[in-house]
Amino acid sequence: MSSGYRDWILGSSTEGRELRVRAFAPQGRAAEILHVPGPASWPWLLFLGGVHGDELEGVWLMEEIEHAWSKSYLAAGLGALVWSSVNPDGISRPQRANARGIDLNRNLPTRDWTAEVKNPRYFPGTQAGSEPENQALTRIIDVCKPMAILSAHSFSKVQVNINGPSREWGERLSALCGYPVTEDIGYPTPGCLGTYAGAERGIPTITLEIERGLPKERVLEMHLPLIQASLDYWRLLEKRNLRL
Ligand SMILES: [Zn+2]
Repeated sequence: MSSGYRDWILGSSTEGRELRVRAFAPQGRAAEILHVPGPASWPWLLFLGGVHGDELEGVWLMEEIEHAWSKSYLAAGLGALVWSSVNPDGISRPQRANARGIDLNRNLPTRDWTAEVKNPRYFPGTQAGSEPENQALTRIIDVCKPMAILSAHSFSKVQVNINGPSREWGERLSALCGYPVTEDIGYPTPGCLGTYAGAERGIPTITLEIERGLPKERVLEMHLPLIQASLDYWRLLEKRNLRL
C-alpha cells in the first residue's frame, strides 16, 4: 500500500456529528503519522469542503480526493489534510449555515470580524470563533501550520479567489479550469477564511468557487486536476526551498 493516513476527530458539531479530518502522510512516512493532530516533520496542505452546507460541489470534490488518496497518496515530502465536510449539520439539511444558523465563513476570529448583520444569509453569530466547526478549523491551522489552504465552495460567479501569497498558485489553477483569479470576491466578507489564514497569517489560501449546480461528474472531471496540480505545485516549491 502506498497510502498511510489517520482520521483525526477534531470534536463534534452542535448536533453531535463528527468533525473528521483525514491526514495523509507523505509517501513512505506512514509510520510517523500521529494519532491526534500535532506537529509533523513535513509540511501540510489543508483541503476543505462543505464550509457552506448547501455547496455540495466542494464536498463531492473533497470526498473523491479523500477516497482516491486513501488508496494511493504519492506525494513525497508533503502531507495532506482533507476535511471534506467542515459543516456536517449544514450538509445534512442541506443549508448554507450551520445548525445554529451561523455562516461559518463569517465567524472566524479575524481582526475585521463584526457582529453586525447586513444580510441574515451571512449571519456571523454574536461572538467571533463561537462555533465548534471554526474552533476545530483554527486549531488545525494553529497546530499543523499548513503551508497552503484550498477551500472548495460553489457560487454563480466562478473564480479562483486568492488571499495571502497565492497569485502564482492561483494562476496555475485558473489555467486548468478557466476561472478568473480574483483578490476580492465582490463584497465584504469579515470573518472569512481568506482573511483569517491568508491576509492575517500569510498562509496562501484559495477559495475555489466552483460553478453552482454543475453535475457531480463534471465537478470531478474539471476540478480533480486542480487538486493534483496543487499538490504538484507545493511539492516542487517545497523541494526548491529545501535546496536553498
Ligand atoms: Zn460558500
